[in-house]
Amino acid sequence: MKSAQVVTELTAIVGSGNVLTQSADRDPFERDWTGRYVGATPAVVLPGSTEEVSTVLAFCNQHLVSVVPQGGNTGQVGGSVPLSGEIVLSLRRLKRIDSVNDDVPSVIVGAGVTLDEVLELANQHGLTFGVDLSPKEDATVGGMIATNAGGLRFLRYGSMRNQLLGIEAVLADGTVISHLRGLPKDNSGYDLPSLFCGSEGTLGVITAASIKLVPQQPLHAVALVGLESFNDALATVRLLRATGMLESAEVILPAGVDLVADFLQASPPFNGAKVYLVVELAGISQVTKTLEKELRAQQKQFVLASDSKEREELWRWRRTHSKAISWHCHREGYSAPQKYDVSIPLQNTVPFLHEIEEACSGLNTAKVIVFGHIGDGNLHINVLGTFDQAFSNRIDETVLQTTIDYGGSISAEHGIGTSKSRYLPQYRTPEELRLFDTLKCALDPHRILNPNVLHVNGANQ
Ligand SMILES: Cc1cc2nc3c(=O)[nH]c(=O)nc-3n(C[C@H](O)[C@H](O)[C@H](O)COP(=O)(O)OP(=O)(O)OC[C@H]3O[C@@H](n4cnc5c(N)ncnc54)[C@H](O)[C@@H]3O)c2cc1C
Repeated sequence: MKSAQVVTELTAIVGSGNVLTQSADRDPFERDWTGRYVGATPAVVLPGSTEEVSTVLAFCNQHLVSVVPQGGNTGQVGGSVPLSGEIVLSLRRLKRIDSVNDDVPSVIVGAGVTLDEVLELANQHGLTFGVDLSPKEDATVGGMIATNAGGLRFLRYGSMRNQLLGIEAVLADGTVISHLRGLPKDNSGYDLPSLFCGSEGTLGVITAASIKLVPQQPLHAVALVGLESFNDALATVRLLRATGMLESAEVILPAGVDLVADFLQASPPFNGAKVYLVVELAGISQVTKTLEKELRAQQKQFVLASDSKEREELWRWRRTHSKAISWHCHREGYSAPQKYDVSIPLQNTVPFLHEIEEACSGLNTAKVIVFGHIGDGNLHINVLGTFDQAFSNRIDETVLQTTIDYGGSISAEHGIGTSKSRYLPQYRTPEELRLFDTLKCALDPHRILNPNVLHVNGANQ
């Protein structure tokens, strides 16, 4: 079927105001947040209900029209943009918000509800949400489930998978799978939220979910800590974990702090550390005192904040890293940064980082900026410089193979997307990939959903 006819049919389903075909309107949906992936689509389709999602997918399946589901388009692995001319199915209009269940703190929300909206709703009930990421205004519940997002509070609450009580998703042929009872205990067969969580839009389109909310911790304290070495940082996190109040433990390094200082036109509270930690403790009593006591006992250089504005001031040294890196690359005329989100066994992080730095300097890259969720062994490695495709592939191979050699995972929280698709067979066994493919064939036999993502298709053939 010709593109124009597809657009006409889709317009009949969702209404003319909800199909974007003009280049200027399509543009923000065609490029990803990193700037590394830019595609093209005949149309961005914005359904307003689960029924419309179902009708759109049934039509696309029947006519073999490929579809890329998209939420807030903040993904980091090129999974949310149309790289092969797919239709973009934007779920942003799915804004259902049911009443909060105060007995089992939870709520049913539509896939297009943003993290900010969830946090605001939870706050009105004296609750909060376990997953916290920087792009709160844009990241959607659907996208966060599809990528099994981790974030800054993983240490305490786990990832999106741990927040799910139920899910509603539409399969490629338009079948609606709805299990939204939201029971905290429910062993009635396969766990469907887990199946769709982390599937990156390849098995179905998530339209709603029942998500847990958690009690707010009344007291919080944040510290920016200066340390002598990475091992020192690991030891500090170990001690703070033992308080039972550790909510976040993030590592940043001087090269990243310098970029953030440049970007914010601000000076860090102190200089001269070889490694920095941003740590947050939260609880019902003695929070600031405990943090101060622990850090003083270890004779660390640190700045402490318990007031919310001052806490945010300290957090921005970590939260602004991704933006500062993109800004710096743009200013220097570099390529979009090569981003890796790896998971490394904690005991291997020091030799791993040493090897990555050596390998990247051997490749003559301009800069390597490392930061991340040190408490989970999750490091974000950003390689900066000017790369052609072949060079870019060499960096990918070097970083990802080193990760595997050190017993790590090639994706801790961002997913595989398109950026790491071809490296999946190096990390998962042929047997695992065959099972992935079996699931894909069962749920999306014509492979219309996110055909470039995960590349289950053909990865094991
Ligand atoms: C500054 C910055 C900081 C970040 N920090 C973190 C972090 O700490 N931890 C972390 O885990 N991530 C982080 N991310 C990555 C990103 O925010 C998350 O992956 C987020 O979960 C993506 O949500 P989204 O709505 O933007 O999804 P999108 O980017 O639109 O999509 C991501 C993937 O999910 C699929 N998808 C989207 N919606 C649906 C749906 N309804 N049904 C099926 N598939 C769907 C897409 O096809 C794509 O494959 C960060 C990103 C930025 C820009």
